[in-house]
Amino acid sequence: MANITEAEIRKIVESIIKGNTSGAKNYSSTEYNGRKLIGIYADMNEAIDAAERGYRAVRAMTVEQRERIITEIRRLTVAEAPIMAEMGVAETGMGKVEHKRLKHLLVADKTPGTEDIVSEARTGDSGLTLTEMAPFGVVGAITPSTNPSETVICNSIGMIAAGNGVVFNPHPGAICVSNYAVDLVNRASAAAGGPEVLVCSMVKPTMETASIMQSHPKIRLLVCTGGPGVVRAVLSSGKKAIGAGAGNPPVIVDDTADIRKAGKDIIDGCTFDNNLPCIAEKEVFAFSNIADELISEMQRNGAYLINAEQADKLAAIVLEEKTNKAGKTVKTVSRSCVGRDADVLLAKIGVSVDKSVRCIICETDFMHDFVQHELMMPILPIVRVSNIEEAIELACKAEHGNRHTAHMHSKNIDNLSAFAKAVETTIFVKNAPSYAGIGFGGEGHTTFTIAGPTGEGITSARSFTRKRRCVMADSFRII
Ligand code: NAD
Repeated sequence: MANITEAEIRKIVESIIKGNTSGAKNYSSTEYNGRKLIGIYADMNEAIDAAERGYRAVRAMTVEQRERIITEIRRLTVAEAPIMAEMGVAETGMGKVEHKRLKHLLVADKTPGTEDIVSEARTGDSGLTLTEMAPFGVVGAITPSTNPSETVICNSIGMIAAGNGVVFNPHPGAICVSNYAVDLVNRASAAAGGPEVLVCSMVKPTMETASIMQSHPKIRLLVCTGGPGVVRAVLSSGKKAIGAGAGNPPVIVDDTADIRKAGKDIIDGCTFDNNLPCIAEKEVFAFSNIADELISEMQRNGAYLINAEQADKLAAIVLEEKTNKAGKTVKTVSRSCVGRDADVLLAKIGVSVDKSVRCIICETDFMHDFVQHELMMPILPIVRVSNIEEAIELACKAEHGNRHTAHMHSKNIDNLSAFAKAVETTIFVKNAPSYAGIGFGGEGHTTFTIAGPTGEGITSARSFTRKRRCVMADSFRII
């Protein structure tokens, strides 16, 4: 079993930080530093068969044994978070190394394990009925490029805790770091006495491998974390599916808020991993009477204010016009701008700033592209509103009915309640940065699969189970 020592980790991280002096990339979708990654297959059917063998092995285990594997996954995730953070940024070109490291620590620390699986007992005149949370079998999971290894590890912990095997079809743009995480889970399994191959992935994931996965009879549950296209595809597969789709989280700031704190919290949340998390602040609706002060506070916290002309110029770069299948021209975010640093984006419109600039802010009207599109980059439009009714109406429209995440800074309980009720999102964060909503500086467990469309919400092990009932009529009561 190839467990990595701390000295080796240090050496690897140093070599990545130095820019890998050999000039060659030290990883691929099947290897890392000359070490073969475990559980990676060229053929989806073979991967599913291997994941099924993993499932059979987990079924034969006690819950305590499963928990030992999960403890080892947590330990390796903490130890190797720097490697995955570096690799994630290097491979995708998106996000911030330090923030990705923190995201891995969050997953290791706050993803629920087997304690999330709770049986119910009901007794009465007619005896005892047990309801237990059983595994589905082999889960087919599709994962995004924005939180790649974080999602693979978070899904693995929850799905294994629930007793499932897993086959991943990760985002092709993040396949190396995703497969590194698959290998990490398998190394943890072997080290804790589990099977050598517990979870599986593809050498080269494609739409075709995803489609084989979706229709394979051995796949009993599909879990999809990604944009609207893939969630739609999975939900129309005819199988039980959990869909964690796109958001466009609005923030309302009213005139009762602590504006100093709101300015800092919004910039901290919006810039976390360069705005890649689907829960991150994407557009602000600020009461006119506090908007100037809010903008100043944002500037004090690393935001750079651009004017309307610059905003239009930037919008023409970060959004690309494409013709969709129906022959209609639509705007989509430019992949080469998603998750990029603010200074890199500003350079595209000829503005030169240093790395202390974390975020680009601008005042826009409601219909501006920056408000309407889920950009996933540190650009934050601010729309002035006159009152809470206007703020709520526009914020709900900007959320596009995704019912994903919304934020508000206010001390007025009526305003907070009115927005929470109207927007109907899975996550609603009050007076804190967005990441408090996934347990980072807020109470509650974490997940990187927030299932709004299918209703599981902040997924955890129990989301990947099916309920089974066992009835003993007329006995097994002690009263
Ligand atoms: P994406 O939609 O481009 O890709 C997600 C995955 O789906 C990838 O593995 C991709 O290869 C695959 N895919 C795309 N279309 C497919 C299809 N028709 N059939 C099968 N597979 C397909 O996502 P991304 O850019 O990596 O991630 C960003 C998007 O995901 C954003 O919209 C973001 O809000 C969303 N997201 C949501 C959550 C959540 O928990 N709700 C978490 C992370 C990301």
